[in-house]
Parts: sequence; structure tokens; C-alpha cells
Amino acid sequence: MTARVPEPDPAIRPTTRARAAARTRSGAPALAVALAVAVAVAAGVLLAACGGTIDLATTAPGQVRVVTTTTVLADLVTQVGGSRVQVDSLVPRGGEAHTFDPRPSDLVKVARADLVVMNGLGLDDWLVKLVADTGTAAPVVRLGEHLPGVAYLAGEGAGTTNPHLWLNVAYARAYVERIGEALAAVAPADAAAFRAGAQAYEARLEQLDGWVRAMIATIPESNRAFISFHDALPYFAAAYGLRIVGVVVPAPGQDPSAGQVADLVAAIKAAGVKAVFSESQFSPELAQTVAREAGATVVADLYTDTLGDPPADTYEGLIRWDVERFVAALR
Ligand SMILES: [Zn+2]
Repeated sequence: MTARVPEPDPAIRPTTRARAAARTRSGAPALAVALAVAVAVAAGVLLAACGGTIDLATTAPGQVRVVTTTTVLADLVTQVGGSRVQVDSLVPRGGEAHTFDPRPSDLVKVARADLVVMNGLGLDDWLVKLVADTGTAAPVVRLGEHLPGVAYLAGEGAGTTNPHLWLNVAYARAYVERIGEALAAVAPADAAAFRAGAQAYEARLEQLDGWVRAMIATIPESNRAFISFHDALPYFAAAYGLRIVGVVVPAPGQDPSAGQVADLVAAIKAAGVKAVFSESQFSPELAQTVAREAGATVVADLYTDTLGDPPADTYEGLIRWDVERFVAALR
């Protein structure tokens, strides 16, 4: 099957700004979008869109089709579901989740999903409008919200909550338990397998959590302070006994003022911070400037919101990669 459909009319493209999308509906005719999606899905065609070409007919019989917002969440679902799931992340590897701009092909992915998985807490609110535009009845699971046993931390704006729970491995285990239950609810015939998959993966994550603690313990207490590029690591720091002295950007997509940079440089010097950690999805230049002025080193290849190339191409690999970089830079 090689038929192609043209890009949807620009008038019914999803809005481009995540924050704008969270505030207002675009006025796009939802019915027209839903019809365009329905036509594309029913035809089983290849959709050529700006993000590339996706094959709409790759799911094996019996597989649960899951769409996640990020590659990290996609890996958690894959580890739980194995061959019983077909998982697709809307934000591609290396992409930026907070400011993501959904493409027309993303509408089709969401429309065909049996289960939609997001983090919530403001990380990926652009999904809400995408889901509404497709008119899908598939359940939408918010992995990070209302989790029992979680000590939630403040986010960037007044009254917001920091969304980066998964970087505390114990909280990622809570995500995994919720994923197992969500898959079991969508595919009751495979419920036992999904719950077993979740339990087996949780056991591995418990071991990983212990490994992280043992590794961080090798860093002298007085060196356990750092700067991160955006505010992705407060749950990680709280869990493993590290101290965040500051962040480079007030929020993803917002550059700091000259005064904020000067304050950060002063804070780095005052606290004797050895390293500034920048993340793979951001340009390292700003972090390099701050570190140079403060006399600190830069680690520019941390992974937080997105997976990377092997060995950081799984959640477990991401955690090991990051922790090894923390130990190397701070010990
Ligand atoms: Zn983030």
C-alpha cells in the first residue's frame, strides 16, 4: 500500500506552542480534524508529514498500541509489555518535551492508540489538546500525578509542581506499577502477563536504585553540589543526597537575564560547585559560558527528559549514564 494523503489543511494543524495550547483552544474545527484522521486511519495509508513517514499498518495482531509523550515513558511501557505492546513516542529521541510542537502525523498516532500515556504536571500538557482533537476514546494515563508515597516538589511557576519524578528510580517504579495496571485494563486477556512484566521490571529498578545509592556514596559529602541546565533533577537530588545550587534557565525555552547569569556564577563560586550539568536536548553554549565564568567544569551530555544513543537508549541505561557522569565530575 503506497497511497499517500496530503498534509492536513494548515487551518486544522495543531497549534504550535505548548503553553498557548494549554491556555486556549485554537478554534480549529475538531470535527474536521477527527474526520481527516478517520479517513487516514481507515485507509491504512502512509502519512507523509513534516516529521517523516510513518507506517500505519505495523501492529501485530493482539498487540496493544500505546502512544507516549516521551521516549523515557515509551521505554517504561516497552519493558513492562514486551512483545504484547507496540509503543510510539510523540517527542522523538533528543527532542524537547516541554516546548514540543505536535505534527499532523502525531494526530494519527494518537487516534490509533489503544492507550495514551503522559507524565502530566505540566511536562506534556500539549497532549491534552491533541487527544481532544482526535476524539479518541482511548484512556489517557498520567503517570506522575497523584502517586501515593511521593513527596511532590515545587515547579518553576507559582503553584506548579515539578514534573520530573522519573529521575528518582523509586518513583519510576511507581510509574511502572501504574503502567502495568493500565495495560491490564486495556487488554484484560493479557492482564496477568502485564502485571508480571511490571513486577519483574520493578525488581530490576529496585536493584538499580541500590546501585545509584552505592555510586553516589563514593562522592565526598562536601562535593555533592551541582548546577543543572533546566530544573529536571530535584527529585533525583532529593533521593540520592545531592544538592542543587542553581539552574541555568528559568524554564525550557527561556534564556536567563544577564543579572541571573551573574547571580548563578556568584552562587557557584560561593558554594564551590565543581560542575555544571547540561542536557543532551539543549545547546551546551549557555552552560559552557556559565561554567567558564565560574571556573567549573561542564558535563554537556546528561540525559533527563529524553533517551539517547546506546547505552543511554533505555531508562536503566539513562540512569547509569547520568550517575557515572555525576561521580566522574564530582568525586
Ligand atoms: Zn524537563
